[in-house]
Amino acid sequence: MTETSDRRFLIQESFLDGRVLRIKLNRPEVRNAQNRGLLVELDTALTEAEKDDRIRVIILGGVGASFSAGHDLGSAQAIAEMGGGPQRHPSFDEHGGTRPGVERIILQEWHYFYQNTLRWRDLRKFTIAQVQGPVLAAGLMLAWACDLIVAADDATFADVVGARLGGMGVEYFGHPFELGPRRAKELLVTGDAIDADEAHRIGMVSKVFPVKDLDARTLEFAERIATLPSVTSLLIKEAVNQAVDNMGFLNSLRQSFQIHQLMHAHWSSVNDDGFPVAKPEHGVADWRKPPPIRLATKDVP
Ligand code: ZN
Repeated sequence: MTETSDRRFLIQESFLDGRVLRIKLNRPEVRNAQNRGLLVELDTALTEAEKDDRIRVIILGGVGASFSAGHDLGSAQAIAEMGGGPQRHPSFDEHGGTRPGVERIILQEWHYFYQNTLRWRDLRKFTIAQVQGPVLAAGLMLAWACDLIVAADDATFADVVGARLGGMGVEYFGHPFELGPRRAKELLVTGDAIDADEAHRIGMVSKVFPVKDLDARTLEFAERIATLPSVTSLLIKEAVNQAVDNMGFLNSLRQSFQIHQLMHAHWSSVNDDGFPVAKPEHGVADWRKPPPIRLATKDVP
């Protein structure tokens, strides 16, 4: 194993003579919430991994108790990146960041939440998400962009954007395809979670391992895939992804992104300060002090 630590928000480890690369989100103090710096760094890391012909399989994981709690809406770091001080992230001044009105959020979310996720989904490498603990909202986007998902037995999956922000789900709206249409609606209106076993039962997750074994067992699984001829895993990925696209995945994703922007336009017109999501006075939970997430259970309303 070799380790490179030149990234600020990520850890990278290389295995099997470079055939397997594991990238881990490394902000455990905020449950790997995704700030802009992390997302841009992840895009760079994956673009570089794409170039490296030795790499056959990329594992995307997270350090600490949670794979990712979603977009970072409130850490000091995330706020500083958006602010006017020296820590401002340059990406807030490009890709629509300087445009007025709704155009700004349409373009910023397109580039940093939507298109980057789609780009990662289309990597010419086989990818495995390795997840543990709560996988919330935009955490789902990262997991869904991968070809396979391996979960620790403590993993739970929820999109709380409806229940906490009055939204209709995250920007990369894979829910109907990942969960099935009715389950997608149920989980979005309630903000409830499914656990690793349920995610496995519905085919979203391939393997469930004890959390203490997650690193080692995921690597074993990656090794099996990395021993295949690389063209084989590539063509399998492409055949399945094109089939899903022909079932409407890609067009649905694009349309849902626009509906997501309609949602932001609504709330930014309702809120005097232009805040692009609902506030507690509109009837949603306070995302700064959210109630516990419940597991969706068939005999509990
Ligand atoms: Zn959004």
